[in-house]
Amino acid sequence: MKIHVGGLSEGIYEYRFDETAAALGLAGEFSDVHVEARLEKRGEEFLLESGIRTAMQCTCDRCLAEYTEELEHDYVMHYLYSEADAGRFDPAEVLVLAPGASSIDLADDVRQTVLVAVPLKLLCKQTCKGLCPMCGINLNEGSCGCRPEPPDSRWDALRTFRDRSSGQEF
Ligand SMILES: [Zn+2]
Ligand SMILES: [Zn+2]
Repeated sequence: MKIHVGGLSEGIYEYRFDETAAALGLAGEFSDVHVEARLEKRGEEFLLESGIRTAMQCTCDRCLAEYTEELEHDYVMHYLYSEADAGRFDPAEVLVLAPGASSIDLADDVRQTVLVAVPLKLLCKQTCKGLCPMCGINLNEGSCGCRPEPPDSRWDALRTFRDRSSGQEF
């Protein structure tokens, strides 16, 4: 996933990359990764705007169903030849190129961006009803007759006492 920048004249350039997850060092649950990149050369600097699209096979945190999560994320990176200029940018958005470097490699940043795009909570849909805590039925697919006891702390002490006394009358 390299862009050749040696001898590039000033201006705006567009690139597309399609890469397998494995080639980017991503795990097998990820699909192929598509990147649309826009590179602008200004003087001795390059501004890269990258749009990334892929998908991931997931297990829903609530109902344990397998589903596909579509992932989309953008990032911006400034490439400079002079370290002295780096302070002008957000440290997360600047890379200093080796003197005379003739290409920039997007692979590391694309991989990181894909990982950042994975949501913390994996849900097959926002309205997923999950599994019944009592009988385990998938509540998206049907309902059951279970009535989860409402949590009511006033009864906890009594219940504990009753459990400890193994069913004896009190
Ligand atoms: Zn679910
Ligand atoms: Zn149930």
